[in-house]
Amino acid sequence: MSSLCLIFFITKIRALPLSLNSYADRWIWGADKHGLFTVKSAYHVARSLILTEDSDGPNPSASLWNGIWTAQVPSKVKICAWKACANILPTRSRLSERGIDIDTHCPLCEEEVESPLHALRDCSVASEALSIAQFAPLSVVTQQSSVHEWLLSQVSHLSKRSFSALLMLIWAIWRNRNSMVWDALSKPAVEFVPLTLGWWEESRIVHATPTKLPRSHSQKWKKPGLGFIKLNVDASFHQASGTAGLGGVFRGSNDSFLGGFFEFKTSISSAKHAELLTALLGVQLASFHSLVPLLVESDCMEIVQATKSNQLDSSDLGFLLADFRQAMHTASAAILYHVCRSANTVAHLLANEAHSHQRMFDFFTVAPSCVKEALTHDCNDF
Ligand SMILES: [Zn+2]
Repeated sequence: MSSLCLIFFITKIRALPLSLNSYADRWIWGADKHGLFTVKSAYHVARSLILTEDSDGPNPSASLWNGIWTAQVPSKVKICAWKACANILPTRSRLSERGIDIDTHCPLCEEEVESPLHALRDCSVASEALSIAQFAPLSVVTQQSSVHEWLLSQVSHLSKRSFSALLMLIWAIWRNRNSMVWDALSKPAVEFVPLTLGWWEESRIVHATPTKLPRSHSQKWKKPGLGFIKLNVDASFHQASGTAGLGGVFRGSNDSFLGGFFEFKTSISSAKHAELLTALLGVQLASFHSLVPLLVESDCMEIVQATKSNQLDSSDLGFLLADFRQAMHTASAAILYHVCRSANTVAHLLANEAHSHQRMFDFFTVAPSCVKEALTHDCNDF
C-alpha cells in the first residue's frame, strides 16, 4: 500500500506543469478545478473517502438511489420515495419512535401499527392500489422489513418505466393517507390509481424531450484574413497512461501550408493540461519562426475561456496559463478563438499521429502524409 501511495504522489508531482518563469510557491486545493478551497468540494472529498472505506464492493443501495433520482417523475414524488427509503417518512410509528405521544394505529384501516411499509404497501388501500396497477403479487414481497428493502428488490427487476409508475403510486398512496389524517377524506384505490397514472402519462408526453435533428452540414476550417497566419492546435490525451499527443498547423490567408508540429508527451495530468501545453508550444514556435500576426484556434472551450478570464489561475495549471498569456503577448499580441472540432481536423490528425506513434518533437514545413488529404478538403472557402 505504501509503495502504491508513493507511486500515486510521484505521478502527481511529475505531472505538475513547470514554468520557465519564477513564480512564488502557493497552496492549491486539488479537489476544485480552479484550485480554490470550498466547503462543498471538501464535503465531496470526505464523502467519497467514507464511501470507499465502507464498501468492500459495489454499494447495493446505489441502484436504488439511482433509480429514484433518475425516475421519470416530478421532484416531489422522488422526495417522497427517498424519505420513505431513508425511513424518515412521518408515519405514526416513526413519530412515536421519535418521542411524540401519538396513537400509532393506521388512520385508514385502524388495525395495524402505521409503519412506513404498512402505509405504503401493506395497508388494505395501499395493497389494493398496487394490485389495480398490477405490481408484483404481494405474497412474493412480504419478506422485506422496510420500504428500502422492498424498493431495492423492485428496482432490480422492474423496467425504468414501471419503477417510475410504482413511485407515482407510492406518492399517491401517501397523499391519500394524508387527506385522511388532515381532512378526514380518503378516496378508494379504484378512483385515485387511474387518476394518478393518467396524469403521469399526460405529463410524460408533454415533457418528452424532442429528438435532436442531425446537423445538415458540419463547419469547416476558414482561411485567416489577408496578411494573417492561423495556427490550429489540438491534443489527444490518454488518462490511464498520462500521455498525450500535441499537434498544430500554421496556414496562411491563401490556404497555404506554412508549417506544422507534433510531439508525444508523458506525465500529463489532464486533457486541459495537454491542450494548454499544445497552445503554448504552438505560440512559442510562431514567435521563433516569425509566423505573425497570429490567430490561434483551439477546440477546447475551457482553455479559451480561461485565457480570457482568470479561471485556471489558482489551479495547478495556473503557471502554465500565465506562461501562455505571456507567449501570446510576445507573438505580436496573438488572438485566441474557439472553433468546433470539425474545423480543427488537421491539428487533430497531427495530435493523433504524435500520440499513436510516440513521435519526438518535430517542426516541419512540408506536410506529412497523414494530413495531406485533410489539408485539401479542410477548407470551405473558395
Ligand atoms: Zn392500514
